[in-house]
Amino acid sequence: MNSIPANLENEILKLKKERNAVILAHFYQDSEIQDIADFVGDSLDLSRQASKTNADEIIFCGVKFMAEVAKILSPQKKVLIPDFKAGCSLEDSCKPRDFAEFRKSHPKAIAITYINCSAEIKALSDIIVTSTNAKKIIEQLPRDQEIIFAPDQHLGRFIEKQTGRKMILWNGSCIVHEQFSEKELVKLIANHPQALVIAHPECPEALLKYANHIGSTSSLIDFAKKNQGLEFIVLTEPHIIHQMKKVNPLGKFYDCPFINTSGCSSCNNCPYMQLNNLEKLYEVMKYGNSSKFGGEIELSESLIVKARQPLVKMLEMS
Ligand code: SF4
Repeated sequence: MNSIPANLENEILKLKKERNAVILAHFYQDSEIQDIADFVGDSLDLSRQASKTNADEIIFCGVKFMAEVAKILSPQKKVLIPDFKAGCSLEDSCKPRDFAEFRKSHPKAIAITYINCSAEIKALSDIIVTSTNAKKIIEQLPRDQEIIFAPDQHLGRFIEKQTGRKMILWNGSCIVHEQFSEKELVKLIANHPQALVIAHPECPEALLKYANHIGSTSSLIDFAKKNQGLEFIVLTEPHIIHQMKKVNPLGKFYDCPFINTSGCSSCNNCPYMQLNNLEKLYEVMKYGNSSKFGGEIELSESLIVKARQPLVKMLEMS
């Protein structure tokens, strides 16, 4: 069994230096991971960082599809993930064989695919988007171009509204954003009538209608920053509040209630993101593929080539 030292933070920083590694973390990671990372960001920021880093190794603290993006954009680098089981319900909802069939049934449509999908789905897509750049990219397409949007139906509907364009939507959704409760949200608003509701577009439309601001994780943090000292009801994964408090120390943040009535107060955490922790981060940096939970992301060269094209297109069009 691999041993775990007492002072994890110091050991991780030592390993990072020895290996010339960079630690990238998503806003939905535990606060101690966010604090030790070299860069914390949303999917688009993290893709950009992965594509331009000079480090030899990328340690990706997020979910697997994000680490795959880092590998696709920096194929010569070693990309490690603390826990291979860190998946995503949106990725699970869209299997390559089904998606290929779906594309066949709409032969004239191009596939604009949300970055929350597997490398195989990316390879079957024309352009990848994130919640930050989806509107901008779709607006660059000819008005009469038929579009398939996958896998998040809620984000797809939100973009339809923003752009005034009808798209053919895949019916996937995020288990975290889908379980927020409208009834509980209304109660929360009644208890904090002065609070601004800020929401990620992965939330269902029934919740988005209450929002004062809708946007990607970066955009939600920016909004909190611009409104110093105010109160916010946050409709996205609650670990993002760690960064919001940093940019708006006097602000008050309430995370969104959930549908689940079991009394568990952490049900609105992403169960996949929460699989990563400092112990696993240390283990994967120290032991690589011999670590218990994580290891190196490996993708075939042909898959990297195919999946890279729609990602590069995204970076060019954003
Ligand atoms: S929060 Fe939702 S979309 Fe994001 S990784 Fe978790 S399951 Fe996937």
